[in-house]
Amino acid sequence: MKVLLLRFGELYLKGNNRNVFENMLISNIKKKLVGEEFKFSNTFGRYVISNYKEEDEEKIISLLKEVFGLYSLSKAIEVEATPENIYREAKAVVLGEKTFKAIVKRADKNFPIPSMELAKELGGVILEGNPNATVDLYNPQFVFNVDIRMNGKAYIFTDTIKCQCGLPLGSAGKGLLLLSGGIDSPVAGYLMAKRGMELDALHFHSYPYTSELAKEKVISLAREISPYVGKIRLHVVSFTKVQEAIHMNCSPEYMITLMRRIMMRVAERICEENSLGAIITGESLGQVASQTMQSMTVTGEVVKRKPIFRPCVAMDKEDIMQIANSIGTYKTSILPYEDCCTVFLPKNPIIKPTIERCEKEERRLNIDLLVDECLQSEEIIEID
Ligand code: ATP
Ligand code: MG
Repeated sequence: MKVLLLRFGELYLKGNNRNVFENMLISNIKKKLVGEEFKFSNTFGRYVISNYKEEDEEKIISLLKEVFGLYSLSKAIEVEATPENIYREAKAVVLGEKTFKAIVKRADKNFPIPSMELAKELGGVILEGNPNATVDLYNPQFVFNVDIRMNGKAYIFTDTIKCQCGLPLGSAGKGLLLLSGGIDSPVAGYLMAKRGMELDALHFHSYPYTSELAKEKVISLAREISPYVGKIRLHVVSFTKVQEAIHMNCSPEYMITLMRRIMMRVAERICEENSLGAIITGESLGQVASQTMQSMTVTGEVVKRKPIFRPCVAMDKEDIMQIANSIGTYKTSILPYEDCCTVFLPKNPIIKPTIERCEKEERRLNIDLLVDECLQSEEIIEID
């Protein structure tokens, strides 16, 4: 019978919590495949998807490749684990002049032939049927894999498809992603979800300085990451009054820094009101003036009760772009709509802001009122 053999990675490290993680992973897999016809079985260290329609196989594989916590999968043939059945499959191999090797894994030690011995014999059987093929143990073109499991079945496969790895979505709580229309923040959200975190997202817009299209762009980005990160509640907040107030009252070089500090205060409030455990940004060290160590110090300083996660902090732009491409957000991110941060952009933003100076600038503003007004403007869009 044709099946998909699924492997999970890091769950092995979880000791007593392993069951909790596994149950989450299994439930995420089943949710992902809702609407498909299939049977799921869990067999000591592997999952098996079977009884699906042949023509749906590729679709099911691409859905599984979006599930965090799966390490890899193989299209496999499942047989009762007897030497005869396995030899029969080896006899059916057609190789021409290819190089090959056989690999046997025997989780079930009751199987009568030890792994090495069986691999050797299978090599012989394959050679008999393919006299022009040669054995190459180091760099073979074809691998005949046999995985003998505790459920009395053997799985025979040739290729392994890498999956997302990471940890099951939901296993690390829920965070608030500051989602701009740029390249970095969708990637930051994806990376945190990969470590098991579910997401709400927060977007600040500056209507009428920014267009309705800028908001649509952010909604598109949230939709594009949702195959990986699941349902997203997108909080959309107006930042116009904040920007106008800073623009009128404060030193231009501190504009971005002060904006960031207010964004963070709003984010922390939204976290508290929605039981979200962390703030996530797409900042990368040194990328722009507002992303120096000093800038991160002064923006982080206003957040008292939540950690700020910046998963892109040590990444080059090129590496971030590569991930954006692979998850499908890049094309949307580079659409040319204004972000609220590009409105009122000062010529020379401060590179090394200080907390003292921020506090002095902020005395010219009614911070509490501005934060409250942001929260009052909040609109929530459910994305799934
Ligand atoms: P990105 O590509 O994510 O927009 P960026 O390189 O343009 O990042 P900045 O504009 O300095 O960098 O923004 C740094 C981070 O601040 C973003 O990654 C995002 O997390 C947050 N941020 C910036 N603008 C907004 C916004 N309008 N709404 C919500 N979060 C924002
Ligand atoms: Mg940006």
